[in-house]
Amino acid sequence: MKIANKTVTATRLVKDALEKVKYFEDYNIFTYLDQDGALKRAAEIDERISRGEKVGRLAGVPFAAKSNFLVKGYPTTASAHILEEFDSPITATSVQKLLDEDAILIGLTNCDAFAHGSSTENSYFGVTLNSCDRERVAGGSSGGSAVAVALDVVEFTTGTDTGGSIRQPASFNGIYGFKPTYGCISRYGVVAMASSLDCIGFFTKTPEDMDLLMSIASGQDSKDLTTLPDFYDNSDSMTSVFANIATNGELLASEPRNDGRERSGLQKHLSRIGVIKDFDNEVVDTEIRNALKEKCELLKSKGYEIVELEMPALKYALAAYYIIQPAEVTSNLSRYDGVRYGFRSHETTDLSSLYSKTREEGFMPENKRRIMIGNFVLSSGFYDAYFLKAAKARTLIINEYEEAFKKCDFILTPVSPNPAFKIGEKVNNPVAMYLEDLMSVSLNLAGVPGLTIPAGTSKNGLSLGLQIVGPRRSDKTLINFSKELI
Ligand code: GLN
Repeated sequence: MKIANKTVTATRLVKDALEKVKYFEDYNIFTYLDQDGALKRAAEIDERISRGEKVGRLAGVPFAAKSNFLVKGYPTTASAHILEEFDSPITATSVQKLLDEDAILIGLTNCDAFAHGSSTENSYFGVTLNSCDRERVAGGSSGGSAVAVALDVVEFTTGTDTGGSIRQPASFNGIYGFKPTYGCISRYGVVAMASSLDCIGFFTKTPEDMDLLMSIASGQDSKDLTTLPDFYDNSDSMTSVFANIATNGELLASEPRNDGRERSGLQKHLSRIGVIKDFDNEVVDTEIRNALKEKCELLKSKGYEIVELEMPALKYALAAYYIIQPAEVTSNLSRYDGVRYGFRSHETTDLSSLYSKTREEGFMPENKRRIMIGNFVLSSGFYDAYFLKAAKARTLIINEYEEAFKKCDFILTPVSPNPAFKIGEKVNNPVAMYLEDLMSVSLNLAGVPGLTIPAGTSKNGLSLGLQIVGPRRSDKTLINFSKELI
């Protein structure tokens, strides 16, 4: 708005962002910076505005993309050595849609290599520091994207979420992070991790920004056959009701309830919020559990009913995820062989050593671990015992969410069992690191949307986050509902 009104120029905004990049350099947020390109695009937008031309809805807004998004001419590495010399030949559909609205991309952000991890400690480019405490991890895998928004370097960033990679770093840094319904945003042009779980989403400072980005980025794409027909604006009756609220808010907001209390427009259609009984135990940090209780009290004071849910199948989610995800990773990473993309080892004597040496040097230990596990669970003799069992557990989890959403409109849960942990604390213990994902992976297995919301700070100054989980295609209503929890 300010841009269109000429109270600030796109060039000024981009220069500010670039200055902040320099100021926060030791946080290790970026893997690539496109200073010249960003300033050039900003000048073009300023020029168009001064000529009185129409500009896009994101005109002049600086943003950054996670380093697993392809942007033509950018060195997309997915923060992995094996992709280091790879120049993207195309631009991801999601990024293109943002550029078409005149947003200005300033660079690519750090993440765990190939998005495998929960801390950015698996990045070839080193760890990203937490925005509240520099001795702690940013979270992951999209840690750079989360810190870029938390430290106000850019207005928003893109991320990918296969098992929590947007929601967990958002909660570690006190911002909003959204993983939409599977298939809502095109995955075309994004380095694949586990194709049946991967979702594209965003980090923002407000639900309103998230809503705008979702309305721009979502929709069917002929280049990604798993994308759903556009539902973001008119997905279901709840959404269209909500659209009415936006235009007719006052009327609905002042309608009296039977008990005489005021009832907001949103509550007329959303009344029950679920909490998962099985997550209320000592595995979860007390301060996070208290933050959840406080938000439940807030909802009750607004007239919502809190429903306790038993979801016993969720206890299989982590195990099922760490079978299905590596199985798909194995398949997706098999294309990196030193022939077709990026880095190639120099110490090769024949084709076979070219493959093995390139992979040995190019992949991080965590990437290799997942390739090994994936091959194991898919191998004959073990397929039935592992992969097939995990696929069955996934079905149970999908059904359990469906049943839960018959009893409530949304579910409120922790995102991870603890706030940001210390750098180095879990990196040598893969199982401890995997346990970080205890409460985030079931959403990806079920394909349902989840939004991380800020929920205060811990006694030692760390950000606390919670997530709102909704039924498939409830994305817009869910984002709007989050305003009730501010
Ligand atoms: N932390 C999870 C993992 O390492 C999720 C990663 C992601 O969502 N990309 O698999």
